[in-house]
Amino acid sequence: MAKVVLNQVDKRFSDSIAAVSELNLEVADREFLVLVGPSGCGKTTTLRMIAGLEEVSSGQIAIGGRDVTHVSPKDRDIAMVFQNYALYPHMTVRRNMAFGLRLRYGGNFVSRLWRRWRDAENAAKREEQYRQIPEKVDQVADTLGIRKLLDRYPRELSGGERQRVALGRAIVREPAAFLFDEPLSNLDAKLRVEMRRELKELHRRLGATMIYVTHDQVEAMTLGDRIAVMDKGVLQQVGPPGEVYHKPANRFVASFLGTPGMNLLEGELVEENGRFQFRSSGLQLDIAANQRPQQEPSGARQVVLGVRPEDILFAEASSADWLAAGHGQVELIESLGDVGFVHIRLPGDGVNDAVLPRLTAKAGIDSADGMFLGSGLKEQTVPIAFRAA
Ligand code: ATP
Repeated sequence: MAKVVLNQVDKRFSDSIAAVSELNLEVADREFLVLVGPSGCGKTTTLRMIAGLEEVSSGQIAIGGRDVTHVSPKDRDIAMVFQNYALYPHMTVRRNMAFGLRLRYGGNFVSRLWRRWRDAENAAKREEQYRQIPEKVDQVADTLGIRKLLDRYPRELSGGERQRVALGRAIVREPAAFLFDEPLSNLDAKLRVEMRRELKELHRRLGATMIYVTHDQVEAMTLGDRIAVMDKGVLQQVGPPGEVYHKPANRFVASFLGTPGMNLLEGELVEENGRFQFRSSGLQLDIAANQRPQQEPSGARQVVLGVRPEDILFAEASSADWLAAGHGQVELIESLGDVGFVHIRLPGDGVNDAVLPRLTAKAGIDSADGMFLGSGLKEQTVPIAFRAA
């Protein structure tokens, strides 16, 4: 069992810097949890506190049911893989991978004698484990496809190979939990995708608890069984990727996840004859009973409507799946090849036209003629429809 539990964990570097505040988080045994958030939100500090590389200011951390809050890093039974790989440059790959185990089971002549004298049975077990280190290193090297690299030095490896060695060094130790700090961020885009897939596969095979820090939301969405979104040292939401994406707990989560992020439109929720309508900047949208805010508005109420870019269509609503909402002006179209982003300016209210609200949509592009599918975007003023949830 390698459940990791953080209970009311706080980290202050000084009176003015609260890196992590009142963090409560439970990572289940064998779970892959991704900690995600913008730069400076406290992800790395959280991971370093779990590893024991950073003292907590208050709160408790437990790994596998054992309180490790004040236990040294080497006794926490975890392995950490860093962004910069942190390999020893003067050791071959083989020695790098074996290093942690040699420390654990080895020792000099005097310490071995001392161990044998104190606890002969245990000492014999450790010496057997020490003898098995080369075999273990070979096995893990095979798993990661790096056997032919074992006699090279880190400087003779590519970035991707170094990352595999860093992973191998962690796996050899068979820790209760793996901690990853942006391990793929130094790799090129293609290799990142490849390593992402390998990591997911590795997690399945090892069945180990993994906690993974990244600011890359694609990594978070694809790797995590659950993702934990942080901002300014505070946990904003934890849940399966689909849930966090489709039911964000607040505006920060809504705009952080997704490329581009969710459109957030300020407007009024108006009730007339028992029906609800959202009104904002020339848009009017009927709101279904199950989409209304929990609190019933009385008369008109200021609300924020969140719409994902992929849930906007620039065409007349022609089926029950789409709801007509109004019209807008095409401002800019960005093509990414198979999809494109369409930026639309909404009509103003005449009062505050200097900052007219905008909507961004994501639409498929027909590969044959390069046009947006079903969008009718040749005209400058286009109808807008929202997908009914
Ligand atoms: P990034 O993605 O940029 O690595 P992060 O989310 O991992 O960011 P942290 O490194 O955990 O963020 O930092 C959280 C906050 O704590 C930041 O405001 C940072 O400046 C501050 N901080 C981190 N380490 C220290 C330190 N050793 N001394 C003082 N402040 C620190």
